[in-house]
Amino acid sequence: MEDKQSSLSLVKGCGNYDKQEQIQLKKAVIIGAGIAGLASALRLRKKRFEVKVLEANTYAGGKIHAFQEKGYRFDAGPSLFTMPHLVDELFELFSLNPPDFFRYQQKEIVCNYFWEDDTSFSAKADRFKFVQDAANTFNEDPGKIERYLAKNALKFDLTKEVFLEKSLHKLSTYLSYNTLSSFLQAYKLDLFSSLNTVNERAFKNDKLVQLFNRYATYNGSSPYKTPGIMSMIPHLEMDGGTYFPEGGMHRISQSLYELAKEQGVVFHFEEPAKEIMLEGKTVTGVKTEENLYQADVVVSNADVYATYHNLLPTVKKPQKVLRQERSSSALIFYWGINRTFKELDLHNILFSADYQKEFDTIFDKHSVDTDPTIYINITSKEAPSDAPSGCENWFVMVNTPPNYGQDWASLEMETRKNVIAKINRMLKTKIEEHIEMEEILDPVKIEDRTSSFRGSLYGTSSNSQFAAFLRHSNFAPNLRNLYFCGGSTHPGGGIPLCLLSARIMAEGID
Ligand code: FAD
Repeated sequence: MEDKQSSLSLVKGCGNYDKQEQIQLKKAVIIGAGIAGLASALRLRKKRFEVKVLEANTYAGGKIHAFQEKGYRFDAGPSLFTMPHLVDELFELFSLNPPDFFRYQQKEIVCNYFWEDDTSFSAKADRFKFVQDAANTFNEDPGKIERYLAKNALKFDLTKEVFLEKSLHKLSTYLSYNTLSSFLQAYKLDLFSSLNTVNERAFKNDKLVQLFNRYATYNGSSPYKTPGIMSMIPHLEMDGGTYFPEGGMHRISQSLYELAKEQGVVFHFEEPAKEIMLEGKTVTGVKTEENLYQADVVVSNADVYATYHNLLPTVKKPQKVLRQERSSSALIFYWGINRTFKELDLHNILFSADYQKEFDTIFDKHSVDTDPTIYINITSKEAPSDAPSGCENWFVMVNTPPNYGQDWASLEMETRKNVIAKINRMLKTKIEEHIEMEEILDPVKIEDRTSSFRGSLYGTSSNSQFAAFLRHSNFAPNLRNLYFCGGSTHPGGGIPLCLLSARIMAEGID
């Protein structure tokens, strides 16, 4: 570690040549040190801004945080890592070799799936094996599965530039050849059918439909509402691969934080922004309890809802954008388990018997189903030191509605009981006898710790065809010098999209 840090210091970083050339640098203030705030800080530093980051918490990373208790280490938030090149490119910006600072391994098993009737399926990263195994387990034609996967790849290729890599709020995006070509082929995107309808059309086996429906949860949506274009998400996972970072998910935010510090970004922890300062329609800086920071550019990595309501009290709010339905949230039980389970891997899913009822309960009734799908993430399968010998660190997550003021204490108690009963049925165990430590995260705590409106995991939901167009842009439409990044802005939530939001934001700054 010391070697890495000293080699970082030797890099001819922005700090060095700025001093040599005695340039009067423009100033950028970033509000929030979430993954998009860190990426924005690095990108603006590369553009030779003097960058300060104001962070309400005592640590960098926002939702990508970790904790240790009784010999167990847990990643508190995200557990699935895809598109690692988006992290690498931040090191490459400064001519560094990413593996010297941040390493990861590709997973051979993407996820282990379990159903109540004892069917199980281990989804392999190798496409040929996936198709063969899925055809055998679900009694489907391998050709059909191949064609479905190929169509997903096509959807991704047709839309990635327009929907993920560029601003949807600039005319130039719509005038490019690629955009026009995508719009001409829009009929291939399944924009007007739900993901579930697309999957039911593709397969006769309900379990395979459920497996592919699950990808709606990757952006906190319902497969019965989100459009069929979302079937491009399995393409990202299956063809792009899933990865486990050395040191856990926390290394993603920590390695970028270390890089930012080395490149001269200055962090102010426990110093929340209180107000974005304005002169007319021009943003001039940020006020905190203690200080007033003048800036040529302000980037908010705080949730857009919190940014408008708390930091821009006098500004007219973009109500249509802020009224969008929020993505799902989660109840997470972090359990230290004093035994091991051979049938489990890093990522495991125990499916509900009635998926539609589960999502109707979440998005229509704003409650948690009595038979929820359970996701179990166990990093000690990859990094044995994350748990004491012979034990496992279980991150047990259930999708929930965002926080509308429900009685979370009783929902938590009831869900915990249902989760334990389901795990016991499906894994043939008495899990309550093996839990030797427990912490719980709920939507209210997620909101308190990160300012995510209603504790949503991914900003706004994608439960409509127009969701992409109604996400907040990466710049303020009516104010000069104010920019936005992070999960509540274009192109959306999740680590890869947050990193892309910072890239799009920085490309918009000269
Ligand atoms: P956030 O992480 O939301 O951080 C925002 C930061 O801004 C916080 O540090 C906050 O303190 C700070 N802040 C807010 N207001 C102020 C203020 N006024 N002044 C100063 N600072 C302020 N994504 C995946 O890719 N894979 C997964 O498997 C996955 N699973 C998830 C599981 C859970 C339980 C959660 C919570 C999220 C998960 N996500 C996952 C989503 C992913 O974590 C987020 O989309 C992403 O980390 C959000 O990053 P962000 O940059 O928007 O900022």
